Amino acid sequence: MGKATGFIDYKREKAPERKPLTRLNDWKEYSAPLPDQTLRTQGARCMDCGTPFCHIGTEINGVTSGCPIHNVIPEWNDLVYRGQWKEALDRLLKTNNFPEFTGRVCPAPCEGSCTLAITDPAVAIKSIERAIIDKGFENGWITPRIPEKRTGKKIAIVGSGPAGLASADQLNQAGHSVTVFERSDRAGGLLTYGIPNMKLEKDIVERRITLLTQEGIDFVTNTEVGKDITADELRAQFDSVILCIGAQKQRDLGLEGREAKGVHFAMDYLSTSTKSLLDSNFEDGQFIDAEGKDVIVIGGGDTGADCVATALRQKCNSVVQFGKHPVLPMARTSDNMWPVPPNVFTLEYAYEEAEAAFGEDPRKYSIQTKKLVADDDGNLKELHTIQMEKVEDENGLYVFKELPGTEKIWPAQLVFIAIGFEGAEQPLLKQFGVNTTARNVVDAIYGQYTTNIEAVFAAGDARRGQSLIVWAINEGREAAREVDRYLMGSSNLP
Ligand SMILES: Cc1cc2nc3c(=O)[nH]c(=O)nc-3n(C[C@H](O)[C@H](O)[C@H](O)COP(=O)(O)OP(=O)(O)OC[C@H]3O[C@@H](n4cnc5c(N)ncnc54)[C@H](O)[C@@H]3O)c2cc1C
Ligand code: SF4
Repeated sequence: MGKATGFIDYKREKAPERKPLTRLNDWKEYSAPLPDQTLRTQGARCMDCGTPFCHIGTEINGVTSGCPIHNVIPEWNDLVYRGQWKEALDRLLKTNNFPEFTGRVCPAPCEGSCTLAITDPAVAIKSIERAIIDKGFENGWITPRIPEKRTGKKIAIVGSGPAGLASADQLNQAGHSVTVFERSDRAGGLLTYGIPNMKLEKDIVERRITLLTQEGIDFVTNTEVGKDITADELRAQFDSVILCIGAQKQRDLGLEGREAKGVHFAMDYLSTSTKSLLDSNFEDGQFIDAEGKDVIVIGGGDTGADCVATALRQKCNSVVQFGKHPVLPMARTSDNMWPVPPNVFTLEYAYEEAEAAFGEDPRKYSIQTKKLVADDDGNLKELHTIQMEKVEDENGLYVFKELPGTEKIWPAQLVFIAIGFEGAEQPLLKQFGVNTTARNVVDAIYGQYTTNIEAVFAAGDARRGQSLIVWAINEGREAAREVDRYLMGSSNLP
């Protein structure tokens, strides 16, 4: 530990963000790096804990606590404090294939579990991580690592999200020949066509795909396994297959009026927006346009927040986001204690932007949509809602109860459904014959990743359900190790 009193001497500094009204005029990233000297003093705040909870990486009561890829955070905090950026990069890359993604969009469960956060704001781990990898690219320290020997084993990875990319990277470095199949026109999975540009600019994703290609990985885009190439063909042509197809089957609203024109799944909205931005800077008109419209996002989560931010950039007339749950408390409650990350009220980027544009937080809490109503031409014109109360039933379980007299009608011409996901898309899994769980994800044990079908493995959201990039990287890395072991009898991969 470079500075024993760093956590007393220095306050936490937040990564700078561009002004909300300014950033609403473009699609560039809203957050920016901290200056070098600030990063060094932020690194000095780390206490080099005997038991560093920042990197425990486990689930406590179902909540991710600490870093799932076990980044050796105290070591690189110290190296950054000392100005040894190259050494910090070496440490970071030992555990994380893609810090440029997690350093930008990970919700940083490491910070929620940081010991310093018991009494003070946590160490700025995420800002430091981002700075280390950005410096690595800026200084030319990241160059293609082309394996010297090839094993002759061929592996197919289906899906190019963070799980597929992490598996591909590990297996390629182990000397296997890796082909990644992706049905979209661009690789990256939700890194490319889920998370909007203002959170993660797409040249950052493309830079990594280019590097992986230079290192020998073959990306086959515009190819849907199950249609363009069958499961049997894939199994015949490759020694092993890893299914990293994500869990993108969206949950629908089973409500009267769902068929009205102007009602869309959130993912259709976000993915077409990013594709149109990348293809033509929106010149092609191939996106759902919220300009001048009253927009309602149904679903209180992060996907919904990304829809709010997208609609604001398109100059919507108004935007609100409905959530079923009550507003979160301002401070931790007794059932949400450290080292579980705090489940408290925060003003994420999208909500800050909505406040700046329209003067209020767009979130409406404890609200239930009852029906959607279209005009005579079938175009959506309004939503009918009622307020809900969260109460305990006779068995002690929380249930939602409607509050009579709180009915309300909301004018809307666009609605985005962001009420979660129902697991992996099933047709491909059926074609492979792999077993699935009650949650519609691949039945494969965490840490093993084997399915009931010989030589077929599964990792990431396809196995875990919709989750986080950092878990996808963790599973992709571990599945690579298991595939390597399966093919070679033993493995040196972590
Ligand atoms: C809108 C949104 C925002 C998010 N924001 C964040 C965030 O800020 N931070 C965070 O940590 N997590 C975020 N997440 C979650 C995170 O993106 C996912 O957990 C992560 O991407 C899962 O990685 P994956 O590789 O398992 O699957 P995915 O990223 O879903 O990739 C699966 C890929 O498989 C491809 N595929 C599917 N079927 C086939 C087939 N038959 N043939 C060929 N290819 C196929 C798909 O096209 C896709 O490219 C967000 C999720 C969403 C939906
Ligand atoms: S828990 Fe926080 S203070 Fe302790 S080692 Fe990790 S980052 Fe440093």
